[in-house]
Amino acid sequence: MRFEISKVLDAIEGRVCTDPSLARAVVDLAEVIRYQDIDGGRPASLLRLGMVIDALSRQLEEDGVQVYAVVHRALLSDADLTSNERMVIRRWADDGLVEVLDNPGDRIVEVADLLGVPVLSRRRFDGLRGRFPWVAEEPGRVLAPVPGAGGPALVAHVGGGDKPVSGARSAAGAKLLARQWRCPEAGCALFGGGGGGGAFADLARVQRSPAAQAPPTLRGGVPTCPRHGSRLSDAGPRPRTEVLAVRIGGLVRRRFVVSEEQPVLVGRAPEGDGGIMLGQWLNDEARRWISRNHLRLELRVGEVIVTDISTNGSGIRPGGSLAEGDRIALAPKQSRVLAENDMVELYPGVQVGRAEELPTDATFTPASVMAEAPTMAMRLPRP
Ligand SMILES: [Zn+2]
Repeated sequence: MRFEISKVLDAIEGRVCTDPSLARAVVDLAEVIRYQDIDGGRPASLLRLGMVIDALSRQLEEDGVQVYAVVHRALLSDADLTSNERMVIRRWADDGLVEVLDNPGDRIVEVADLLGVPVLSRRRFDGLRGRFPWVAEEPGRVLAPVPGAGGPALVAHVGGGDKPVSGARSAAGAKLLARQWRCPEAGCALFGGGGGGGAFADLARVQRSPAAQAPPTLRGGVPTCPRHGSRLSDAGPRPRTEVLAVRIGGLVRRRFVVSEEQPVLVGRAPEGDGGIMLGQWLNDEARRWISRNHLRLELRVGEVIVTDISTNGSGIRPGGSLAEGDRIALAPKQSRVLAENDMVELYPGVQVGRAEELPTDATFTPASVMAEAPTMAMRLPRP
């Protein structure tokens, strides 16, 4: 049983990040793990984070959705969690997958404001209306996870709908996220590299691209490390990024980021770190057709360049058209600029394009991040 719980927690680990391009909502972990009415279980359970991520995934009709979790430091020693759960949260903290703070205060809403994403919380944040008017004015920007049939449902505080709404990054967010930042504290998990933290950098389990750096907090208008309260130094422009997505059989399986400094390989089982592995989602025929390394995607002066590196070739779908006559062959070793709305098709039904232009196109239900959870861990209300 313990082993299975660990597998669930590993799956949830893949769904937390502080990457401004990939996080789709912000959550306060200390709050979410205490939504006891969701499953009627223990006072605190890390599995509830998975249930809330599932609810978001269902609403966005996308698999692999990631959230930005802010963690109160007291949680690292919270006796209501199992020792295994505390260990997992500590690991996430060390790897900078979550943001750990002595006093989260209004940071959850600040991150949502900077990134332009919704907050998942039962709190109303009335005290923050002055600074962040959207909290009280824009429907779908703050949603409460509440018990529902088959897992939590989301209810918007404003407007009462159930659709999470993303906006544009705020002006402050756009400015902060155009630069890279360095924290003077050695080994800072969020803004590392400062203060001679070389030894710590070597210990880091996760190599992070500067393009994926968390947003600083603003204190008196000064970019500050939310963890250490130290003033951050400007480390130059942040590499440009483009968010792409993989859609298979009509369902968006995951998003990924291509930056100017980091090309991405997509294929059945790409070599090296950071590749997008499709193998687990493909049927036998598609698995035979699609090469281990099939496509290379890169960003050059703002344009997405796709290069076929496969044995069998790919096709471009101009403007996203799926009509057979519209397919333009992309032969092995050929490159092409991916124009607006274009998708590249590795095999019929296996597509890559810009995330915003590649919605899930049918009534598909995303797989649960909790799929591996033993039933005892989640006594969900029956539909
Ligand atoms: Zn720091």
